[in-house]
Amino acid sequence: LQQGKSSLTRIARPMTTPALKALLEKTAFTDSDLALLLTLQEPTECRALYDEAYKRTEAVLGNAVYMRGLIEVSNLCVYDCRYCGIRKSNHTLTRYTLTKEEILQAAERSFRAGYYSLALQSGERDDARFVEFIADVLRDLHALSLSMGIQDGCGLTLSFGEQSCETYEYWAKASGNRNALRYLLRLETSNPKLFETIHGHGPRRKTLIERYMALSDLRRTGYQVGTGVMIGIPGQTVEDLVADLRAFERIDADMFGMGPYIESEGGDMHADGMMEKKQLLTLTLNMLAVTRLMFPTCNIAAATALESLVPGGRVLGIGAGCNVVMPNLTPTRARVNYRLYRKKTEAEQEQIPLAVLEKDIESTGRHVAKFRLGSSAHFRARFNLAAD
Ligand code: SAH
Ligand code: SF4
Repeated sequence: LQQGKSSLTRIARPMTTPALKALLEKTAFTDSDLALLLTLQEPTECRALYDEAYKRTEAVLGNAVYMRGLIEVSNLCVYDCRYCGIRKSNHTLTRYTLTKEEILQAAERSFRAGYYSLALQSGERDDARFVEFIADVLRDLHALSLSMGIQDGCGLTLSFGEQSCETYEYWAKASGNRNALRYLLRLETSNPKLFETIHGHGPRRKTLIERYMALSDLRRTGYQVGTGVMIGIPGQTVEDLVADLRAFERIDADMFGMGPYIESEGGDMHADGMMEKKQLLTLTLNMLAVTRLMFPTCNIAAATALESLVPGGRVLGIGAGCNVVMPNLTPTRARVNYRLYRKKTEAEQEQIPLAVLEKDIESTGRHVAKFRLGSSAHFRARFNLAAD
């Protein structure tokens, strides 16, 4: 995989079909197995990897794809992550925060469509006003979901970055249904040097250790814990991705949200370029499929960034072992300003009608699971919880 200035290269070598077949039958992998799988490039070999991941998803988790109505609450952020288009120093964006009414309206649309779980995401703030606003929103979302006939209340995935233990607990209480409460906080990369490079040196920069601590705080507070990395970050190596997979094992994550690194207009990494599209797509699908082989009971989302990279990317993700899709329900006026990365065409802005998206998902042979919360089987096993 030769591209830009990244060193995701080299290991790739042709594999004989029987050797690949034997490798794909394994359930425990060495680091060199993982590196080999991640660097597959021959279309037929990649297909064999994706088919195996798809097959194992079905064998362990069944045929369902769970939907999370995605609401991008605000693009205000006090951090300056260099890769991110809504970072504080990007002054070219119109900043917005949705009103509670707009959020409730989007949620209502999700519930009506039969998508009983929501994913709420935002630029990062930890001031009291924001913490209180989110708590208020969570209480009202829970009440709305009950009033619309969702027994025990809707499922919620929060993605509001690093917060204090008190905030995690406060939001958990406000959410109303702790059995279907999730938090997505990516490691971004498990390589400490690379983490530092992409987070810069500003006064409120992020650190990898704090990220691990936040993930363990979330676990202790009872959330289903989701993590992931960006794939194809300039300077990232195959060994880094293997180390990421090992980090996922240590974290004992319940779910994954992972997608390609895409250049962003307001970011600070232009000089570093990005991987060539086709190679990036292959690498991303390889990483998703390998994650599935290693973590058969976890939920894996086909990230929106995958759809931005190539129209139909999410469907390809399902073919490689993903079992969660997050259709974007953010009001259009705000959506155009939630620009984590470059989005130009309509497809990249995820304007696909829900009915079309559902048809696309079902074209993979999967079933769109409506009226379900779809909590992580890995999490449920930990507490002997029934499927929801
Ligand atoms: N502020 C929160 C949530 C919003 S950012 C947080 O940082 O966790 C959500 C995710 O968007 C990040 O975890 C990051 O992985 C992803 N992201 C940001 N910029 C990106 C880019 N240029 N390409 C791909 N993903 C990006
Ligand atoms: Fe803010 Fe999250 Fe973007 Fe970092 S990645 S700048 S915390 S929105």
